[in-house]
Amino acid sequence: NIVVVGSLNMDVVNRVGKHPLPGETIKGKGTDYIPGGKGANQAVAAARANASVRMVGAVGTDGFGKQLLTSLNRDGIDTTNVFVKDGTSGLAFITVNDQGENNIILSEGANGALSTADIQSISDTLCADAVLVQNEIPLETTYETIRSAYGKAARIYYNPAPAHPISKEILQMVDVLVLNETEASVVLNKVFTTHKEYVDAAKELVLLGAKSVILTLGPEGSIFVNENQSVRVPAFQVSAVDTTAAGDTFIGAFASIYAGENAMESLKFASAASAITVTRSGAQISIPTRQEIEEFLKH
Ligand code: ADP
Repeated sequence: NIVVVGSLNMDVVNRVGKHPLPGETIKGKGTDYIPGGKGANQAVAAARANASVRMVGAVGTDGFGKQLLTSLNRDGIDTTNVFVKDGTSGLAFITVNDQGENNIILSEGANGALSTADIQSISDTLCADAVLVQNEIPLETTYETIRSAYGKAARIYYNPAPAHPISKEILQMVDVLVLNETEASVVLNKVFTTHKEYVDAAKELVLLGAKSVILTLGPEGSIFVNENQSVRVPAFQVSAVDTTAAGDTFIGAFASIYAGENAMESLKFASAASAITVTRSGAQISIPTRQEIEEFLKH
């Protein structure tokens, strides 16, 4: 079973031809309300890949709160540990252009109220095969989750997104650190360009204490590094429509099948899942089921 501790957002998605410049007003091509948030997206990705998933997080007392819970329940996700906080739910204002590139403004709402005390009150539930956590809740809550899951969860996954530097103490408790290029640059305070530099960055993070590191490189694929091995899997070639939730799909799908030895197989499965996600618009609605992933891998 997988426990995801993280954000739940309602994504307000506007489609545009091109992104507006500062001071510019443009006409949109339509608006959709789509459940998102890195935490909830990763939970949905794991659940659709057939894992048994529990969500820990917070929604507001606004109308979106109930909608967010209902939508997770439809994927069979247990939401008994999602707290309801006075005020608005997390909102993400997303603009996607014709090239599938997105700009995002986050209004954290209830996600910002998920406290270290909340985590302490549910710490028993962190006895799981995998605990997944990101940076869309207060940093001290993320750190409390990692400290509290340490020794309880078989594997702790940390996706430091949005990017923030990581203390050595926290890094050493992480079993699988998953980052994209931007996050790796912030965490190591360096800029990378070549494939070798990416591999070196992942190796450096392992030397700093993470048990294993996955770097996702968009259409360039992904790299897995631990003490014993370094594995690279290219991305599947697809035509990208909207990259929202690509990384989240990757993490949820990976965590649903990774058991410590099968890094290569898990990377391929996660790459297939996220390749499907980028061919569809939106966050949670674009995440594929296990059956869709297996079909995709046959071709
Ligand atoms: P994030 O969404 O966190 O920025 P990435 O952009 O690195 O993460 O994407 C995560 C994974 O999704 C990649 O490792 C790759 O497997 C897949 N992916 C992303 N963009 C594409 C694309 N254009 N074509 C195929 N696969 C993609």
